[in-house]
Amino acid sequence: MDMRLHEYQAKEVFADAGIPTPASQLASDVDGVVDAADEIGYPVAVKAQVHVGGRGKAGGIKLVENSEEAREAADSILGMDLKGYHVDQVLVEEAVDFTNELYVGITMDRGEGKPVAMVSTKGGVNIEEVAEEDPDAIAREHIDPSFGMHPYQARKAVYDAGVDRAVARDVSSILKTLYDLWESKDGSDVEINPLMITDDDEVIAADAVMNVDEDALFRHPDLEEMEEEAAGGDELERKADEYDFDYVRLSGNVGIIGNGAGLVMTTLDLVDHYGGEPANFLDVGGGAKAERIANALDMVFSDENVDAVVFNIFGGITRGDEVARGINEALEAFDEIPKPVVVRLAGTNWEEGMEILNEDLVTVEQTLEDAVERTVEYAEEVNEQ
Ligand code: GDP
Ligand code: MN
Repeated sequence: MDMRLHEYQAKEVFADAGIPTPASQLASDVDGVVDAADEIGYPVAVKAQVHVGGRGKAGGIKLVENSEEAREAADSILGMDLKGYHVDQVLVEEAVDFTNELYVGITMDRGEGKPVAMVSTKGGVNIEEVAEEDPDAIAREHIDPSFGMHPYQARKAVYDAGVDRAVARDVSSILKTLYDLWESKDGSDVEINPLMITDDDEVIAADAVMNVDEDALFRHPDLEEMEEEAAGGDELERKADEYDFDYVRLSGNVGIIGNGAGLVMTTLDLVDHYGGEPANFLDVGGGAKAERIANALDMVFSDENVDAVVFNIFGGITRGDEVARGINEALEAFDEIPKPVVVRLAGTNWEEGMEILNEDLVTVEQTLEDAVERTVEYAEEVNEQ
């Protein structure tokens, strides 16, 4: 199995090895994107950090000229679904004014049982497509792993590909560095597409791919750390699996817990209506017993994007008083409630439930509208602190 680094992680590895990369910052919320873009200076590229190719075409990359456009781009990319991947981080990057785009990469040629270096002046597009439509546009140089890549092999591949002589030396040196990384980090694919060439013959890695052998990760603590960091974003989804919740992460800061998909959807719409932004969709399902309530709270509390939580429970089989006891029990376990919690109960025994709720720990509202409005206010207050 391969571990795939995110673009921003691969760029970190490449930059450490001396490959020029554009100035960039990682961001996970809209304000963070705007701040980063303002700091880097316009134009910048806002790029979804998910493991799919062709992000540009799919709407996952936007070039922006000012703060307003940066905000719009962040709004549309963060939280979007890109070919089945939820985007929760973007790389904000100095845009490169390029005249040419190259492809350079090292991969394993399974047929030959040897690594192969590839260079093409048809960069910036899917290299598999180039390989199919115009195989001669890719220069290939096989490498004997017991000797490593000789600098002349790098120069030959670059020459064969027809790379402009003015940048040939820099491109060769980058190709050699890629091979050294491939070898030293137990890589499977190490690629730059596009490697951009500017007007004044600068060579910059505008994208970065680095896939490494998962079984060799123990030899590379730096990469292991990156894997953990990347998995962090999915930690909540893993928890949701474990707890058997229906859960979707969204890009806002209002945590939502409810039972029944319809009720959660209604709550989501109301959050939006009151000017808030939902942080998640969390349906605890039927039987909202104390333990499930505690698990749901554990999830939203551990989501650092959440500033306030609204509980919207409709008592059916699970009665309102049971739910209320569950909420009390779950919250009493905390020395300090991490984020404000607003509760609205309806259905069987809801009145009893309301009375049981410990109002030192939660805010109780009678109607769904009031509960949501109050939560949105709390979220705004927390956010402003
Ligand atoms: P991928 O499609 O997911 O591989 O994403 P890339 O990072 O390779 O970007 C795809 C395309 O977006 C590039 O080939 C460029 O044409 C364009 N692009 C990306 N970054 C920049 C940039 O900084 N400046 C400009 N002008 N175009 C960019
Ligand atoms: Mn690319």
